[in-house]
Amino acid sequence: MRPEERQLEVIEEKRRKEQYVVEEMIRLYCRKNHKGYDRKAGKMCPACWELTEYARLRSEKCPFMEDKTFCSNCRVHCYKPEMREKIRQVMRFSGPRMLLYHPVLAIWHVACSIKEKKKQKEERKL
Ligand SMILES: [Zn+2]
Repeated sequence: MRPEERQLEVIEEKRRKEQYVVEEMIRLYCRKNHKGYDRKAGKMCPACWELTEYARLRSEKCPFMEDKTFCSNCRVHCYKPEMREKIRQVMRFSGPRMLLYHPVLAIWHVACSIKEKKKQKEERKL
């Protein structure tokens, strides 16, 4: 495999991981907050599904995937205000709870946030 291909694969992997984490966070939020959540099928309500699809699309179109770590850390907020507010609510609710349900993912997410904050701080100094 050529280095460029390898690089592309790393980016895709990151993208998939991010999409998965976001989806799990929305699912958790929906399960605990929305009556429309289908417990039997494990399906989220239509509004949350829409948010998931939206987040997936944003992530797919994200031109910064290579450098950035996670959408919630991204300095370019590409979400439209309404969706951004929704995803913020989801993060606030599910962020701390992810530790309980998906510890590995949660730790990865926190590690990413710390790394990104450090990077942004260093960039400001330049
Ligand atoms: Zn929902």
